[in-house]
Amino acid sequence: MLEGRRIVDLTLPIIPGEGGRPFLIERGRTEELTVHPPVDHPWYIMHKVQTISHIGTHIEAPYHCFPDGRDLGSIPLEQLIGDAVILDLSALKSDSLVGAAEMAEVAERAGGVRRGDIAFLKTGYAERRSSPEYEHRPSLTAQAMRYLVEVGVKLVGTDLSGLEGPLTPAHLDCHLVLLEANIPFIENVGNLAALTKSRVFVCALPIPVKGLDAFPLRVVAFE
Ligand SMILES: [Zn+2]
Repeated sequence: MLEGRRIVDLTLPIIPGEGGRPFLIERGRTEELTVHPPVDHPWYIMHKVQTISHIGTHIEAPYHCFPDGRDLGSIPLEQLIGDAVILDLSALKSDSLVGAAEMAEVAERAGGVRRGDIAFLKTGYAERRSSPEYEHRPSLTAQAMRYLVEVGVKLVGTDLSGLEGPLTPAHLDCHLVLLEANIPFIENVGNLAALTKSRVFVCALPIPVKGLDAFPLRVVAFE
């Protein structure tokens, strides 16, 4: 299956102690952290991890905004694996408000969105995240998300740190449209610039934790 395919990692690495959000790891001997009996080996360690569910490349489940929505452990695998279309918004002017018309236009340029596609929104702003230019990134709208729901996408991803931007009318506009339609989304998708085709095969696999709203995951494309 992998023959002739290029594997592209679309995951941003998490470096404990770096970045704006905490990812704390504390090292200990296994017997200090669990009921494991002592082992005669100088290095036999485990870590305690303390973090926040929205860090790095992470997926958000309907439960993030809806108490009866699917949690991270309840997203069907079928929704996390499959064909992805790259919707390239990088030609938009700075400070763009992205509506349904803009989304339809980039979809057409990508050769169309098919029902059951994963849609990755590539803005090209990921590389400018720590520069003042990031403030001028595209702002997605509820109408743009409704377009994606109507054409039948099953999962959305973006290279931005959030779907909503500085010009999006309300903070949860995009969240609510997608999550209410049972469509999870991934923020901080990395490395989209490395893809050379507008369609790739993708596996985006979070650990299935019951009762969790979001978590980092590994996103891998095959092209
Ligand atoms: Zn988030």
